[in-house]
Amino acid sequence: MTEVSIVKCNNYEHKNVRNAIKESLDLLGGIEKFVKPDDKVLLKVNAIIGFQPERAATTHPAIILVMAGLVKEAGGIPIVGDSSGAFGFTGQSLEMCGIAKAAKEAGAELVNFESTGTYSVNIDGKILKNINIAKPVMDCDVLISLPKMKTHQLTKYTGAVKNFYGVIPGTGKAKIHQFAPSELSFSHAVVDIYSALKPKLAVMDGIVGMEGEGATNGTPISSNVVMSSADCVSLDAVASEVMGFFHKDILTTLFAHERNLGVGEINDIRILGEQIKDVKMEFKKSKYIAYKFPEFVRKSIFRFSENFSRVNISEKECKKCSICARSCPASAISFSPKPFIDQDKCIKCYCCHELCPNSAVKLRTSFIGGLILKSMNYKS
Ligand code: SF4
Ligand code: SF4
Repeated sequence: MTEVSIVKCNNYEHKNVRNAIKESLDLLGGIEKFVKPDDKVLLKVNAIIGFQPERAATTHPAIILVMAGLVKEAGGIPIVGDSSGAFGFTGQSLEMCGIAKAAKEAGAELVNFESTGTYSVNIDGKILKNINIAKPVMDCDVLISLPKMKTHQLTKYTGAVKNFYGVIPGTGKAKIHQFAPSELSFSHAVVDIYSALKPKLAVMDGIVGMEGEGATNGTPISSNVVMSSADCVSLDAVASEVMGFFHKDILTTLFAHERNLGVGEINDIRILGEQIKDVKMEFKKSKYIAYKFPEFVRKSIFRFSENFSRVNISEKECKKCSICARSCPASAISFSPKPFIDQDKCIKCYCCHELCPNSAVKLRTSFIGGLILKSMNYKS
């Protein structure tokens, strides 16, 4: 039986965050169980985009400050790293979301996966057979996931397992979106990446989570928890239940469980500290529907009736920063003279919507799409 600890925490004041994380780790046996003296410990944060911490898209700097401090107290050497979802913007993202400052303050090395080089790793995945993983992820002694608790437009939920999508730097992430555009195929791809890694611990920032149109354009929601586990899959099963999902509806959890990469069955997880019912919430879910259909439906019905759910750029709000175009796996975005999305090329992966810092990318579900959504009895 695996274990997940849940501890309440109502704000990001350093003392409160430290007490909550420490208690959460002590329930699992203490940080010393995971970190030995002189271990190089990579804290894999979520720095998906350069938003302020208050937007709740990224791991809050207070979590990094505390975790790096605890690693040092255990005698380990903390390293903080990630790559942004937007190619070429990792350095800027790490700065803007406060993670760079927190790493410096904690005396931790900060690594930008876009400039560390990668190892080519062969895997026996469902979708992926070879991936390029940032070197620090493979070179560290202890890998720790520090995810944010959020909804996700494609995978419904993102947490400890999906956080490792960021170990693929450069244009690799966009290419994977192109191979695997649906919820089903993309969830397999995320689990493929996870299968190449051996994380020892995950500590989730659920103090303020994100609901609605996550992982970046949703709404912050006070969820007031810190959760930890040695098993990322178990942590995701529990966290998704806390957010109001049924854990088996989260395909990354289901597939990782089926592939024996962790325990995703809630009845086989011992919950320590608070129980799910004590902290359970009802996060608003994404209301966009394209991803809910299998590939063959997306390719036929959506091409035939693209107005079910489409992506557009608001000319008025667009600052032509090109983040979306550089991250679009289908090369569907151009700017001459106006920002334009070629709907024939667009695979509706929603990366542009996720990564636009100016909320200029708009998703629209048509009347028909709305009716389908309603008939699916999907809460938004
Ligand atoms: S839509 Fe957003 S990301 Fe794309 S160029 Fe405009 S402002 Fe930048
Ligand atoms: S235009 Fe946006 S939704 Fe369409 S493929 Fe490109 S990034 Fe994905």
